[in-house]
Amino acid sequence: MPERTAAGGSPSATGTLSALDRQHVWHPYAAMPGTSDPLVVESASGVRLRLAEPAYGRRELVDGMSSWWSAIHGYRHPVLDEAARDQLGRVSHVMFGGLTHEPAVRLAARLAEVSPGELEHVFLCDSGSVSVEVAVKMCLQYWRSLGRPEKRRLMTWRGGYHGDTWQPMSVCDPEGGMHHLWSGALPVQVFADAPPAGFAAEPDEEYVAHLHKMVEQHAHELAAVIVEPVVQGAGGMRFHSPGYVRALREACDAHGVLLVLDEIATGFGRTGELFAAQHAGVTPDVMCVGKALTGGYVSMAATLCTPRVASGIARGSVPVLAHGPTFMGNPLASAIAGASLELLLSQDWQAEVRRVGEGLRAGLAAAAGLPGVREVSVLGAIGVVRLDHEVDIGAATRAAVSAGVWLRPFRDMVYAMPPYVTDDADVARIAAAMCAAAREG
Ligand SMILES: *Cc1c(COP(=O)(O)O)cnc(C)c1O
Repeated sequence: MPERTAAGGSPSATGTLSALDRQHVWHPYAAMPGTSDPLVVESASGVRLRLAEPAYGRRELVDGMSSWWSAIHGYRHPVLDEAARDQLGRVSHVMFGGLTHEPAVRLAARLAEVSPGELEHVFLCDSGSVSVEVAVKMCLQYWRSLGRPEKRRLMTWRGGYHGDTWQPMSVCDPEGGMHHLWSGALPVQVFADAPPAGFAAEPDEEYVAHLHKMVEQHAHELAAVIVEPVVQGAGGMRFHSPGYVRALREACDAHGVLLVLDEIATGFGRTGELFAAQHAGVTPDVMCVGKALTGGYVSMAATLCTPRVASGIARGSVPVLAHGPTFMGNPLASAIAGASLELLLSQDWQAEVRRVGEGLRAGLAAAAGLPGVREVSVLGAIGVVRLDHEVDIGAATRAAVSAGVWLRPFRDMVYAMPPYVTDDADVARIAAAMCAAAREG
């Protein structure tokens, strides 16, 4: 195995780390042993990642990814650091069975308050995927409790992403989610066509009719419809009309099916509303949040539901929700999440999201004319450059890093969702790096 050597000729600390990483550490969607050399991050603050060793001439990178939608306030924010330190001085974890604590109680109450409609009950869990598992369990158990156990399938639309554990995988886009690999093993769900693209586009009436028909046809076996409202994230970064979310709400109401909105990527302001459902003026029966919940500090997610769902479950022969992760309601995560939410709401976050979006739009105008670029789209603080070919991830990453920016292109796109605190100069730098990545990738 070739080892990078420092100037002195002995293997550098970074070279040793990289060798151990390749040998022992599994990375997302990666082979083992590793086939690429991830950049080693030494520290981060504000919107800058500091590398242990320069890569393509850069030691510091402006973060265009918010660590997968999560670090909305940037890194080492003094308010969040303080919340973490303060909670460490009390207790970092204690079991949630039979015990409770202020950080979790306050967080749940605040989430109930700021979420749309009457989503009042909050299940705190470890990660986004688990929150989707919990949402599915809530819905299936609701119908079981009402004496309708046959209502246990899920409907979604193509192009979605809901996580990597079993139930979430079953409602991911069948192609992107590699369902062929799992045929016979994954639960078989009901798939509507992907929503027509374009946030501002008038809802396509034929497509709305298609959604209604699919819900009606399968209502007898459907526990719930689950979708990402307005933005399909990791399934392909596509924006659609809030009208389709409204259409699903209407169809679900008309045919006795629950509606789950997965706001794990879109929640906490990313699309320009606190929750993307608010673009549609819709309240789901169940809602999942995660990613930005703790400002990107530690893993935590939540599943919220209405009193109707909770009381339905309570009517069953088993009146309890049979779920209870070991680290449920983790005090440290709850304290940081509470602080992150207050930090967000204490400022004019909508203006910041708009400003970042405008900066991306201005900077990405140059990408629209590039050869190989199919489409440029911006919504909230999300920018997407879609190519007419599969991105060469190595070449695109090299181009972005050389321009001083961290991006993680995938499939046929180069995209960014910067922290909301990114200043105008850094937003411009991110957009320029996206153009460079689109050109080289
Ligand atoms: C990331 C994501 C998930 C999964 O969350 P994890 O914390 O990675 O398990 C689920 N749904 C959506 C929409 C996501 O973006």
